[in-house]
Amino acid sequence: EAKESIIITDELTQFNIAKDGRSWSIPAHFDTYELEYREMPISGIETANTPMTFRTDDGLYGSIHEAALVDFPEMTLASKEGVLTAALAPDGPRNLEQKAIVPLNFKSPWRTIQIGRKAVDLINSSLILNLNEPCVLKDVSWIKPAKYVGVWWGMHLGLYSWGKDARHGATTERAKQYIDFAVANNIDAVLFEGWNDGWTVANADHNFDFTKPAPDFDIDDVLAYAREKGVDYIIHHETAGEVAWYEQQLEKDLDFAAERGIHALKTGYAGWLMDGHYHHSQYGVRHYAKVASEAAARKIMVDAHEPIKETGLRRTYPNFMTREGARGMEWNAWSSGNKPSHHEVLPFTRLLSGPMDYTPGIFDIEYRSIAGNPDVKVWNNTHSSKCRVNTTLAKQIALWVVLYSPWQMAADLIENYEGHPAFQFFRDFDPDCDWSEALQGEIGEYIAVARRSGGRFFFGATTNEEGRTLEQPLSFLKPGITYTATIYADAPDADWQTNPYAYAIETRAVTSADTLTVVLAPGGGQAISFIPVR
Ligand code: CA
Repeated sequence: EAKESIIITDELTQFNIAKDGRSWSIPAHFDTYELEYREMPISGIETANTPMTFRTDDGLYGSIHEAALVDFPEMTLASKEGVLTAALAPDGPRNLEQKAIVPLNFKSPWRTIQIGRKAVDLINSSLILNLNEPCVLKDVSWIKPAKYVGVWWGMHLGLYSWGKDARHGATTERAKQYIDFAVANNIDAVLFEGWNDGWTVANADHNFDFTKPAPDFDIDDVLAYAREKGVDYIIHHETAGEVAWYEQQLEKDLDFAAERGIHALKTGYAGWLMDGHYHHSQYGVRHYAKVASEAAARKIMVDAHEPIKETGLRRTYPNFMTREGARGMEWNAWSSGNKPSHHEVLPFTRLLSGPMDYTPGIFDIEYRSIAGNPDVKVWNNTHSSKCRVNTTLAKQIALWVVLYSPWQMAADLIENYEGHPAFQFFRDFDPDCDWSEALQGEIGEYIAVARRSGGRFFFGATTNEEGRTLEQPLSFLKPGITYTATIYADAPDADWQTNPYAYAIETRAVTSADTLTVVLAPGGGQAISFIPVR
C-alpha cells in the first residue's frame, strides 16, 4: 500500500469572464456562509464564495460553483490581476499554507460553470447532482421528506432558553403540546433544541453528551407520546464546533437515537473554528461526510446547520436531506435581519447548490405576541427591539415553496398558527416534490416556482422591495384536470414595511389553459395550492 501523500498548497484554476456585468455573491470566508449577499460588477469582486452568480452586460447568465466536494477543502474565488482564481480554504489560521493532504492518485472536486439564457435556467439544471457518484445506500425506503415544527424560534426571540433556567424551552410538557399541534395540523415531525443536558441559557457546553436529557425533558416519555400519535422525532446535536470530541462520541450518540427509533438528526456547529481548523477546510469537509455516512449506517437522515456548502453529495448520500449554509430566518430574531431581496437572491445563488433549511413561515412578523413579556431576555448583543421579519405574511407562505428543502419547517411559535386561516396552506403542502420548475424571475428582483407532489401542485412567487404584477400561465398543470386553486395573496394595501399582515385568501377553479395575474405587494409574495377536483 502506497504511503506517499501530497500536500496541496494552492490551486491555479482561473475563470476569466470576458464580458463584465453584474454579480451576486457573499465574500469568501472559511468559517461561515451566514453573510449578506452583495450585488456588484463582476470586475469589482475581490473575493467570493460559490455559487457566485453573474449576468454579463450582453445578457448571459452564469454561475461558478463546485461539485462532489468529498475529501478536499472548499473552493472560493479571489481576484488575481483581475482574473477570478480558485482560492482553497486553508487548514486553519495556524496552518495557512496547507490546503489539503491527498494520496498520489487523487481526484479534486469538479469546478462547475453553469450558463443560461434566462436567470431561471440556472435553477432548472441538475448539473451539480449529476457530477456526484450514484447512491451508495442499498435501502432508501426510510428516507422521507417531512414538514416539521419545533421549540426553536422561541429561543432565538429570547422568550425561552436552551437550558438551565426557568425559561427552558424544551420541557416534556411543551414537547407534548408541539406533538399535539403536529397531529392536528398534518405535520410529520418535531424538533426540540435544548433537549439535552448541559446548556447554559444560550451557550452550548463544550463536551456535550447526546445521551443525557435535561432534567425537565423526559425523552423516553416524549418519544412514546410521539410514537403513539404517529409523529417523527428529530434529535438535535449542537457540537459548538467541538468536532474531535463529537467524533469520539458519535457512534454512541447515533446508537442512542437509532435504538429509540429516531431516523432524523439536526446538527449544529455554531462558533468559530473546529478544533483550530476552519469549518470549510478539508478537516471540516471530512467531518460532515463522516456524520452523513455514520448516520446512514443507522438509517438516520441529517440536516446540518453551520455546514459545509452543498455540492450535490446528497445524490451519493440521499439521507443528507438539507442544510443551512446562508443567513436563515434566525438572523431576523436578533439582527437588522435579512433584506426583502435576500429571498430573491438565494434561489439564484445558495440554492443552486442544493436544498436549504431556511425555516420560513413566521406569521408574527413584528413579534407582537411577545411584546412587553417580562420573560423575553436579550441573549445576543445584536438583538434589539427593532428586530422584525422584513416581508409580508403572504411572502412567508410563498417561501415554503420558493426556498426548496425536503424538510420544511413552520418556524413560528405554534400559538401564532393556532386558528390562523392562512396556515391551511402548510397543512395542505407536501414537501415530497417529484417535479419542480422555476417559471420566471430575475436575480434579486422576483421569482416564481411550481412544484408537484403526486397529484397536487404548489406555486410560490416572491418579490424584493418593489411591488409587481406577474402574468403566470398555468401550463405546468396536468391537462384535462380541473383544480381548486386556493390563492394566499397580499391584500391590495399590503406592504412589508407599513402593512405586512394584510392578506387575502381566494378559491377558484382553474385548468392548465388558464393564466393567473399574480399581484405582489412591495416585499410581498403569493402562494397557491392546486388540488384536483374529484
Ligand atoms: Ca446558523
